[in-house]
Amino acid sequence: MKYNSTRNSNLKVESAVAIKQGLSVEGGLFVPESFPELSMDDIKKLAKASYVERATFILKKFLTDYLVKEVKACATKAYSRSKFGVKVAPLVKLSDTEFVLELWHGPTCAFKDMALQILPHLLTTAMKKTGEEKTVVILVATSGDTGKAALEGFKDVDGTKIMVFYPSDGVSDIQKLQMITQEGRNVCVSGIQGNFDDAQNGVKAIFTDEKAKAALLKKNYVLSSANSINWGRLAPQIVYYVSAYCDMVNTGEIQIGDKINICVPTGNFGNILAAYYAKKMGLPVNKLICASNCNNILTEFMQTGVYDRNREFHTTISPSMDILISSNLERLLYDLSGCDDEVVNALMNELRENGKYTVSDDIFGQIKELFWAGCCDDYFTKVQIYNTNNQHGYTVDTHTAVAVDVYKQYKEQTGDNTKTVIASTASPYKFNASVISALGRDEEMAGKDDFELLELLSEVSGTKIPKSLKSLKNKEKRFENVCDKTKMLDAVNKFLK
Ligand SMILES: *Cc1c(COP(=O)(O)O)cnc(C)c1O
Repeated sequence: MKYNSTRNSNLKVESAVAIKQGLSVEGGLFVPESFPELSMDDIKKLAKASYVERATFILKKFLTDYLVKEVKACATKAYSRSKFGVKVAPLVKLSDTEFVLELWHGPTCAFKDMALQILPHLLTTAMKKTGEEKTVVILVATSGDTGKAALEGFKDVDGTKIMVFYPSDGVSDIQKLQMITQEGRNVCVSGIQGNFDDAQNGVKAIFTDEKAKAALLKKNYVLSSANSINWGRLAPQIVYYVSAYCDMVNTGEIQIGDKINICVPTGNFGNILAAYYAKKMGLPVNKLICASNCNNILTEFMQTGVYDRNREFHTTISPSMDILISSNLERLLYDLSGCDDEVVNALMNELRENGKYTVSDDIFGQIKELFWAGCCDDYFTKVQIYNTNNQHGYTVDTHTAVAVDVYKQYKEQTGDNTKTVIASTASPYKFNASVISALGRDEEMAGKDDFELLELLSEVSGTKIPKSLKSLKNKEKRFENVCDKTKMLDAVNKFLK
């Protein structure tokens, strides 16, 4: 199977090239030229399989130029017991219709691990397959979660080095500690004096600096990114929806062929797009429910067909969803337009020039058929954390709470009783202050440091602190340097020297 670009459907590359390149040369996103089918017989077989086997089976359908043993080796390294514990993506039943898919059992306690643990292996395999012998240098600008997940994924992976920049005053204390104590031979972390946009612009400037790139090439280095538009990050996300379905078959919640809904707290549109792709492959899915916080550009888009980013940006307690440009939406538009690169190019031009676009009636009609969208502000996010804890004895993080709330809105407005998988994208411990506050325990928080808050949340929620967060306290701080935002290239060169 070959891959086209959303902005050039005549382009055809192998999956290894798509993963190595990340983005197509004309700025489009790589998409498979056709979608492999998932039959009910496949599901029957996968129901009895391990997560690694499920991942190997699904990924191999997309990565046709990889050998089965290559895909299996990648999945085995990524989803090992030492990284994810006994169950990679467990499904927890909250009520007769609500099933929480916990995607945060990886090393950094957030769902980005599901993709970033396997991407480095898919990428280094792609390098070998395409005869590339250089060392890949991954540069990441992060507002918190992605940087740490990328560091953990690339840590000690042969043939790679990774450098992460974060705004020194723009991440939480835990996030900062997670990064500056990062272990591994091939990693480097630096704060920058500036905000996330400065960090991102600095990284972009290095990527487009031909002179710098040529100098690196001489030293046998080639730059790459690990951002969420890489096909090697998206494909592994399809797996856990199929896996959740299999688990529901195994527990007798559904019969093979029964439909489920999938509800996803959405930012860049990657996670919910993977659910759409699972449906497209044949997974029996009724509605895809798109949940946003008060940065509700996607809610409005799905309700009106108009994507308008001319609006205020809100900082919320679910920061990983504070996004106004959902890059992966481009892949959905391509698919719903019947793979029409002209349509996509026109819409993306409009977005660049006017900050908005309107999709055709045909595309809008399909969106309404496939999706349901809703949003939830910080107040109701907290109410939902409280209610879920109160009613089910189960504690969700702020992002998951947005999805739970939007699911409740959906159910109330539609009366649909279809069993629904709700994607849970972070451990509540990652956003402990907001969660403890939502549970009504503000007073006990006063004067406590981050580690004491972990203890408090454990007490309040009756759950165990994830080992990777608890152990941070005793880790050596390896990367305490902060550089000027104009000196990022120097920092990269120093790291690679
Ligand atoms: C990244 C992230 C999201 C948003 O996922 P997208 O694929 O960008 O839609 C939601 N929740 C958490 C905790 C995240 O880290």
